[in-house]
Amino acid sequence: MTLARHSLTPAAIPRISGIRATRAIVDLDAIEGNVRILRAALPRACQLMAVVKADGYGHGAPWIARAALTSGASLLGVATVNEGKILRAHGILAPIVILGSIDAAEAAPACQAGLEITIADERLLVAVQQAVRSHALKEPAAVHLKIDTGLRRYGATTEVAAAIALKIAADPLLRFASLFTHFASADEPSDPFTGEQLKEFEQATAAINAADVPLPPLHTANSAGLLTGMGTQYDVARPGIALYGVPPSPDVALKPGMRPALSVESRVTRLIHIAPGDTVGYNRTFRAVAPLRGALIPIGYADGYRRQLSGRAWVGIKGRRAHVLGRVSMDQIVVEVPEDVQTTVGEIVQIFGGEPPLAAPSISDMAEMMGTNAYEVLVGLRGRVPRVFIRNGEVVAVRDGSLGGVDV
Ligand SMILES: *Cc1c(COP(=O)(O)O)cnc(C)c1O
Repeated sequence: MTLARHSLTPAAIPRISGIRATRAIVDLDAIEGNVRILRAALPRACQLMAVVKADGYGHGAPWIARAALTSGASLLGVATVNEGKILRAHGILAPIVILGSIDAAEAAPACQAGLEITIADERLLVAVQQAVRSHALKEPAAVHLKIDTGLRRYGATTEVAAAIALKIAADPLLRFASLFTHFASADEPSDPFTGEQLKEFEQATAAINAADVPLPPLHTANSAGLLTGMGTQYDVARPGIALYGVPPSPDVALKPGMRPALSVESRVTRLIHIAPGDTVGYNRTFRAVAPLRGALIPIGYADGYRRQLSGRAWVGIKGRRAHVLGRVSMDQIVVEVPEDVQTTVGEIVQIFGGEPPLAAPSISDMAEMMGTNAYEVLVGLRGRVPRVFIRNGEVVAVRDGSLGGVDV
């Protein structure tokens, strides 16, 4: 049998024998390799910000962040204050930039946790200024200014950007850490809009420069920009999805040698004889016309294996496709074992991710079946699916479930 790239060494298996059979294997070697390849595609002086928002696109942010930092990333990007705090709680000291908009009341906790805030208007700027004054910080607080060059989401307009930049530069307790924008359609390389956004960004930087504000590091490129060479002439690039070895869209290819880090697997928990006329699952949407063997697998929509996959998706058993029969339940699916495949209870089943020769759908295949993009497939994988981190085929960490809350 051909070994899957993420195959665990026999020594590694006892370390995860006590956790749920349905688990995500996260290959840290793949993350590190991907970061090195992305790094090598950038100009030497360009820094790499590893975007690990949404729990590292569902992979487990602290482990991804550490792997990225050891292989060429020097900054981290998150979306929320709490995501940044989780990284700090794991002992990560690298600069962490909150890329999204936050509430003014979150400015103080963000500064105290040593997180760098992205501002786009005066309201949040004033909140940061108040926060740094009421909490004696050792160093000026780093702030980033985001410019809206066409996404019409978070960001200051080019017209007001220079005024905000002046206020940042004039405040001795602030450090103007970077100026950036975000692309709307870089994952559609034929769309000229990315070029228009870059022109708009140049105008904004020129206006700030003309206001006598020294320009901080500049950045524009997300994964798609980095992979297609759009906006990589600046000081930082901010890849997210590509770190995980997943292409941003069907129109943008990864660099040779990049590979997916995450694969979800489970085990057969029951073999079911299905007779002609039998139906499988809720609402009896599948009816057998011939005898077949079903295999029960403990994954369902509460794990992020969406109900939309009912009757559509397949899993890999011994390198062969086994199709989902009938409805996906909350916690289980039944698949059809191909006629000539021998299997037993306890057999490992590849649910998705990984690479050929595994017969499981790729993350992009899942996205197509779910009518969404690869990003949503990844972040949709729920916390109750344990994450098993491997390096060199050895288990180096396991995260099982989320930490509990606190009563207040
Ligand atoms: C999410 C995000 C990224 C990363 O985008 P990918 O398409 O995953 O590479 C980069 N920059 C900003 C501002 C983001 O919000």
